[in-house]
Amino acid sequence: MLRLPQFTLERPTTIEEAIQLVADANGRGRFLAGGTDLIPNLKHEFIEADVVVALGGIEALRGIEVTAEGGLSIGPLTSLVDIAESADVQRIAPALAQAVGTIAGPQHRQMGTIGGNVMLDTRCQWINQSHFWRSSLGFCLKKDGSACHVVEGGKRCVAAASNDSAPALATLAATLDFQKAPTEYGNGKRTLAFDELFKADGAWNKKVSADELLTRIHIPATPVGHKGGYAKLRMRGSIDFPLLGVAARLDVDGEGVIEHADIVVIALQARPLRVRKASALLVGAKLGAASYDDALAAVMVAAYEQCHPLPNIPGDHEWRQEMVPIYVKRALAAAIA
Ligand SMILES: Cc1cc2nc3c(=O)[nH]c(=O)nc-3n(C[C@H](O)[C@H](O)[C@H](O)COP(=O)(O)OP(=O)(O)OC[C@H]3O[C@@H](n4cnc5c(N)ncnc54)[C@H](O)[C@@H]3O)c2cc1C
Ligand code: SF4
Repeated sequence: MLRLPQFTLERPTTIEEAIQLVADANGRGRFLAGGTDLIPNLKHEFIEADVVVALGGIEALRGIEVTAEGGLSIGPLTSLVDIAESADVQRIAPALAQAVGTIAGPQHRQMGTIGGNVMLDTRCQWINQSHFWRSSLGFCLKKDGSACHVVEGGKRCVAAASNDSAPALATLAATLDFQKAPTEYGNGKRTLAFDELFKADGAWNKKVSADELLTRIHIPATPVGHKGGYAKLRMRGSIDFPLLGVAARLDVDGEGVIEHADIVVIALQARPLRVRKASALLVGAKLGAASYDDALAAVMVAAYEQCHPLPNIPGDHEWRQEMVPIYVKRALAAAIA
């Protein structure tokens, strides 16, 4: 049995208290939302914390609102099940509702939150293991070691971003509000475009630090002809993390002609990958017409050529690459359906 290391648990009721508590821990503090990822990682001892700040008592972090412009404003503490089942999310941001509905299993979606999913740590078959297991290999450069077991001689961790919501939020052009304790240099608040959040380093794949609290997720209004879909490759139909996840966006005009297309893939590398060349091929094609079938065939080839899975997560990486075009096709079919 894996034991949970000792830490102090704090239960603030305001954002200001929460960010101050993490700031006071001098790099040894962590926010706790549903705990479905943080708690296993603390048990595996590749995340260490002296102070864990539970967010559950902060009402300001909950809820889904439709904005005056017809977009969405989502509190990061909103549960995954509430996102997946929200009629507003299904209508305005269908890819997000679909993606979140595939996360883990029903109990995890009750406990897990959208904020915890956005801020999810990367995954690798060499790190998501017990301390004892990792010690037998001399650890790795993500934590306590100096070598990467995925890329021989690699100097940077390539653990995979595995959050199902990420590609959907990327196609939806979401923005994220963050807040940390104020300093003499500023009030600690900033807003990032979703595309700006991630960097290509699996050791910590975010451009914000662990003391920055995600306080709101904004999704701009989507046009009348908006269609979004998500397709996920995994071993079992439930519980498993993605071996590949594809979010697709199509905005079509009144005649069914595609005006804007976007495809973003997760679980390849440390950050979501936008397959720009592939999605550009869809613009101008008409749904249900031969032009769409021709574009789809070209999109599948282009996506295959741009996506290069690594042996970082379970599942043969060459097989995962063969699955790329199939899951691109399924994500587009889910959007059109
Ligand atoms: C068996 C199993 C299967 C799973 N399958 C999937 C899957 O298929 N797809 C998937 O995407 N995930 C999966 N997960 C991971 C997890 O359940 C989800 O990602 C969930 O959304 C995490 O949310 P949480 O609230 O539990 O986050 P927590 O575990 O509480 O936190 C996760 C991380 O986010 C940080 N954090 C949380 N909230 C905030 C905030 N507001 N601001 C800043 N930082 C914050 C925490 O400090 C921590 O680093 C699985 C987990 C398990 C145990
Ligand atoms: S990608 Fe390499 S460094 Fe990163 S967790 Fe896996 S083995 Fe460790």
